Amino acid sequence: MKIDQYTELYGIIGYPVRHSLSPLMHNTAFEAVGINAVYFAFETRDLKAVTEGMKALPIKGMSVTTPHKIRIIDHLDDLHALASQIGSVNTVVNHDGRLIGFNTDASGALRALEGKVRLEDTHSLIVGAGGAARSIAFALKEMGAIVTITNRTASKGKALTKALGCGFVPWEKMDHIEAELIVQTTPLGMAPDINACPIPVSILKPGITVMDIIYNPRCTRLLRLAESRDCQIIDGVSMFVHQGAEQFRIWTNLDPPLRVMEEVVKEALEKQDGSK
Ligand code: NAP
Repeated sequence: MKIDQYTELYGIIGYPVRHSLSPLMHNTAFEAVGINAVYFAFETRDLKAVTEGMKALPIKGMSVTTPHKIRIIDHLDDLHALASQIGSVNTVVNHDGRLIGFNTDASGALRALEGKVRLEDTHSLIVGAGGAARSIAFALKEMGAIVTITNRTASKGKALTKALGCGFVPWEKMDHIEAELIVQTTPLGMAPDINACPIPVSILKPGITVMDIIYNPRCTRLLRLAESRDCQIIDGVSMFVHQGAEQFRIWTNLDPPLRVMEEVVKEALEKQDGSK
């Protein structure tokens, strides 16, 4: 990778963020397409300083991860319509000093489900009510799914339910729901705590689809249990790569090198323990 006076800057903000594979994925994509750009990881809590810094340096684009996806909105100049409807931003573009927020989590999740599951008039259970859950619930509803949300903190789950017009089921009663699609969006099961699983086995009925948006490890405890009970399983890599590919398109106006991005992420995960 050549770095010179024309190299453009991109990055990801989050807290924590060192575990993120976005730098590897985006730097590989820039190199594959021959773009003179570099992508960093910025572990920060100071969104005011970040957005001022983006304008001052300037930084051309930023990914936004937990816990900043909702609070970043107050620091932006404008929002793309979808990000505004969803109320969550995972992508920022610097257009000549104006910072615009986008959401690619919703389309990334839909691409991961595409061709694998029917959504219209299908009962879906979303476990968690954070930024990712918000985007996925919105996307599923747009596709005609009947969505129920459960969350450890009931007040947050209910607030999201009200905002999106979904159903709510208390955390300890999630096994009362009969869902054809379950989407797990909490960090439970993510490395290093790989034995955690937020979902009771009793709702993993044969033939249903279970998507875990955690991608490290690729095959979480939940997905292993679901597979052993004859559920269709979808890991978090596909959503991760598709949301990243859409960010690449927004930043560069070019077609993303999807296969290269996917391969480099899978390779990195395979090198880590328990991710095969
Ligand atoms: P977030 O906004 O911080 O939300 C976290 C959610 O998880 C909340 O609903 C929270 O419940 C719940 N939670 C956290 N710890 C919990 C615990 N110990 N027990 C039960 N529930 C717990 O985070 P996010 O941005 O939505 O991201 C969530 C996860 O998805 C992260 O692991 C992230 O890496 C992953 N992710 C993956 C992709 C992908 O492309 N594959 C994209 C986005 C996010 P409370 O309300 O009770 O706190």
